[in-house]
Amino acid sequence: MNSITYRITGLVFSAIVLTVCILIYLANVQMTGLFQEYLMGQHMMGRAGMSRLAIMGQQEEAFLASVHHSLLWVGLAILIVGLVVSYLLARSITVPLRKLSQAAEQIEQGNFEQQVSVATKDEIGHLGKVFNRMAETLATNNNLRRQLFANIAHELRTPLAIIQGNLEGMVDGVIEPSKDQLRSLHEEAVRLNRLIKDLRDLSLAEVRQLNLEKEPTDINQLVTRTVLMLKPMSDAKQISIECALADQLPEIAVDADRISQVFYNIIVNAIRYSPNEGVVRITTALTEFNGKQNLQISFADAGLGISPEDEPYIFEHFYRGDKSRDRKSGGSGIGLAIVKQLVEIHGGQVMVTSKPGEGSTFIVLLPVVLSE
Ligand code: ADP
Repeated sequence: MNSITYRITGLVFSAIVLTVCILIYLANVQMTGLFQEYLMGQHMMGRAGMSRLAIMGQQEEAFLASVHHSLLWVGLAILIVGLVVSYLLARSITVPLRKLSQAAEQIEQGNFEQQVSVATKDEIGHLGKVFNRMAETLATNNNLRRQLFANIAHELRTPLAIIQGNLEGMVDGVIEPSKDQLRSLHEEAVRLNRLIKDLRDLSLAEVRQLNLEKEPTDINQLVTRTVLMLKPMSDAKQISIECALADQLPEIAVDADRISQVFYNIIVNAIRYSPNEGVVRITTALTEFNGKQNLQISFADAGLGISPEDEPYIFEHFYRGDKSRDRKSGGSGIGLAIVKQLVEIHGGQVMVTSKPGEGSTFIVLLPVVLSE
């Protein structure tokens, strides 16, 4: 039993006791006075000078006593009903509170799958709904965290196992340490290093702790530079990257390296998921979004496209549309998660529209902020 129940019951019951006592007292006093006045009125004319007490015979006294008794019984009945009602009232508040605190204790112990059934539409019902939503979010985050750890472990283990296996082979003399072997080991090490750097950036961006060195930047120039950087990759698949960049775009305050990474990741995907000899179109424009000026950078490819089932998840960590794809033919599955975080810490948004088999268009919106 919890003390709020006692306190509410006690408080409400005391109020009822006080009210009933006052009412009974007043009723008794009033009753006696009025009854005596009535009797006086009856006897006044004939027997002038009689005292009040003199007119109260045994019958009248018995009548008054029985009325007083009845009043006491009624009062007692009201008190019992009052006690039950105040206890029920107190319990209607404390029972849901107790359920909530039990569920909160479970969450504290790491059992996140908790829901409380609070059906009322009052403040407690509202608290119950908020609690259930909070528990759901905690459970989802906990699952995501666990999944993230598993994914990170998996992603790190594979290149490490390759490096370890090859080195052991070389030490045992089973593998000839040729230049090609060493180059492929170096590639694995570079990939591992990049993955760790990406993960670090991603985790910092997610808690909004990534330091941004913002300075006025020409976005068109940044696009052109990134396209140039990726020329060897696009040339290898004979993919042409066409840029239609708007004239006289204002320079905006961004961290050029981070935004270049955003463009890089999106263009790498566009090349990766396009067929040989495909075309990737990049356009820039000044646009209004939610009543504010934004720079819009669109990347349209005519590649594989994204299925409607995959679309909501592609910006999540380690989500790969084609699960069978290996790390070499695809990336680690965190490219777009980084894109989303980097764009969002610049106050922007990234969106995608896609049709399987027809291609995808990624749109990055960056607010026109001229200086920090
Ligand atoms: P990955 O490293 O696997 O490419 P990303 O986070 O960059 O990881 O992308 C997540 C998933 O989104 C990809 O596995 C792919 O299924 C899908 N995707 C991203 N960009 C494109 C694109 N341009 N065309 C088709 N699918 C894409």
